[in-house]
Amino acid sequence: MAQVKFFSGQQFPLEMHKVRIIQKLNLLPIEERLEAIQGAGYNTFLLQNQDVFLDMLTDSGVNAMSQEQQAAMFRADDAYAGSATYTRLHNKLVEIFGMEYFLPAHQGRAAENILSRSLIRPDTFIPMNYHFTTTKQHIVVNGGTVLELIAPEGLEVESEHPFKGNFDVPALRQLIADEGAEKISFVRMEAGTNLIGGQPFSLDNLEEVSAVCREHGIPLVLDASLLADNLYFMKVREERCRDMSIAEITRAMADASDIVYFSARKLGFGRGGGICIREESLYKQMRGLVPMFEGFLTYGGMSVREMEAITVGLDETLDFDMINQGPQFIEYMVRELAKRGVPVITPPGGLGAHVNAMKFLEHVPQQQYPAGALASAIFLASGVRGMERGTMSEQRDPDGVEPLADMELVRLALPRRVFTLSQVNYAVDRIDWLYQRRDLIGGMRWVEEPEILRFFYGRLEPVTDWPTRLMEEFRKDFGDSL
Ligand SMILES: *Cc1c(COP(=O)(O)O)cnc(C)c1O
Repeated sequence: MAQVKFFSGQQFPLEMHKVRIIQKLNLLPIEERLEAIQGAGYNTFLLQNQDVFLDMLTDSGVNAMSQEQQAAMFRADDAYAGSATYTRLHNKLVEIFGMEYFLPAHQGRAAENILSRSLIRPDTFIPMNYHFTTTKQHIVVNGGTVLELIAPEGLEVESEHPFKGNFDVPALRQLIADEGAEKISFVRMEAGTNLIGGQPFSLDNLEEVSAVCREHGIPLVLDASLLADNLYFMKVREERCRDMSIAEITRAMADASDIVYFSARKLGFGRGGGICIREESLYKQMRGLVPMFEGFLTYGGMSVREMEAITVGLDETLDFDMINQGPQFIEYMVRELAKRGVPVITPPGGLGAHVNAMKFLEHVPQQQYPAGALASAIFLASGVRGMERGTMSEQRDPDGVEPLADMELVRLALPRRVFTLSQVNYAVDRIDWLYQRRDLIGGMRWVEEPEILRFFYGRLEPVTDWPTRLMEEFRKDFGDSL
C-alpha cells in the first residue's frame, strides 16, 4: 500500500485508474431544477436522471466497471442450467470466502428474503449491529424482531472512533442470558453499516461476536454488501490488519461467519447478489426458495453477463488500489465540508459523505423531515441528488405512531470509481453556500404516504414556499450562473 506524497505537503486523493468511457452530464438552470423537484414530489428517488447533474443518490448498481469486467461479459455462457458462467462465479466465491455452497439471487434484498423465510423461527430476535431498510422489512414480515446492538459510540454523530459499526458484545451476552439462545434465529453483522454513515466494524469485534455465537450455537450471518469499504478501513485503521493482504482479511471475516450474503450492486461492481453458506444443512434449508423466487440455481435471476462481471469485480475487490478510491474521496469530501463548518458524520466512512441534517437545519422539527428537506435543497442549489436517511426512511408503527430516526442524514454517495475530484469540489462549494443560507430552508409534509418503504415513492410538499425563496437568493448570489 504505497501512499503517494505531494511536494506541496497538501494531501489529496489520487485515482489509480483512468477514465476511458464517459457519459455527458446535464446541469439545468435552477428554475428548471425547481420544476424537476416539484414534479418529483420533493422525493429525490422520483427525479429523472436527465435532470440530475451529479447522481449521489446511491452506490447501488452505478459503480464503474473495469475493462476486464466488460471484456468478461462477452464470454458469458447462456444456459438455463449448468452455465459455465455460474461455475466461474461459484469457484471465485469459494476461493474468496472459503464456503462450499452458493445460492444466487438477483440482488441483496432477494438474498434477505430467502434467508429470512428459511431461518427465522416465530417470535425470535435477530440481533445486529444496525438494521438496513430492506433487511428489517424482510425480518419483520417473517415474524422476527430486529434488535440493534450497536456499540454506544456508533450513534455519536461526530467522533474519531475508527470502528463505529462495532457490535455491542456485552449486550449480546446479556440478551442470551436473559432470553436464551433458542430465542435468537441468527445474529447479523453488517459490514460498512449503511444507515449510520457507512461505518466499519473491526476484525477483532467480528471475531468476538463469532465466539459468542459459536459458544451458543447461533448462526452468524455477515451482510457483505459494503464489504469493500469495511476491508479498506480494517487495512488502514486496525493494527493487526496492516500486514495482512485484503484477501487474507476477507478470509478471516468469512471464517468468523456461517453465512455471507451480499448485494453485487455494491460488492463486485455489478448487478446481482447471493448467499455463501458453509454448512450443507443450512444450504438445503434455503435452496428450495431460489427456483421459487429468483430463477434456477445456476443464475438466480441474474443475467449471465452480469455474473461474469461480478466474478471479475470480486477479484478487483481484493486489490487495494481498486477499493481505495471511494473511501479516500469520501474522506476528502467530509474534511472539506467540515472545514467550512458544515455538520457531517465523522470519522468519514464508506459509501458517501453524510451531512447531519439535524444540526444543519436545527430550526426544522424532526416531524417535518429535516433530512428530506435538505436533500431537496441540495438538489435545488446544485443539481446534486442525495438521499434522505432519517425519519422518512423509517416506517410508522402499526398504530400509526411515527418513530423518529436516531439520526437525520443526507447521504451523498460516491459510486465507486465514478466521479472526479473537481465534481466533488463543486458539490462542496454549493453545500457550503447552502449552509450559509440554511435559515431559508423549511420543513416538508406528506402529500402521499405509502404504508411500506414510504421513502421510495412517497410524495411531499414544502410547509412554506421556501424553495422559491431559496431560488431567488441563489440568483442574487450567483447571477445567471448555472
Ligand atoms: C444495498 C444493501 C442491501 C440490499 O441490496 P440490494 O441489492 O439493494 O437489494 C442490503 N444490505 C446492505 C448493507 C446494503 O447496503
